[in-house]
Amino acid sequence: MTFERCPYDGSAIGAEYSGGSLLLSCEVCGAAWEVHNTLVRRVAAPDWVRVRAASAIEARTHLSASS
Ligand SMILES: [Zn+2]
Repeated sequence: MTFERCPYDGSAIGAEYSGGSLLLSCEVCGAAWEVHNTLVRRVAAPDWVRVRAASAIEARTHLSASS
């Protein structure tokens, strides 16, 4: 299983191989995951302050786009 967007703030996440496993990380909230075949293990928790800030920006973007 892999995912392309952060489950916390919905931003695109980066992927890189390190030592035979895939390392996924979100630049917005700092969360990171390690992928081993079908197993996904979170190695860094998200910064919820930054998640909320990113969500607020997203909400404002949608508002201005619809007006
Ligand atoms: Zn994130």
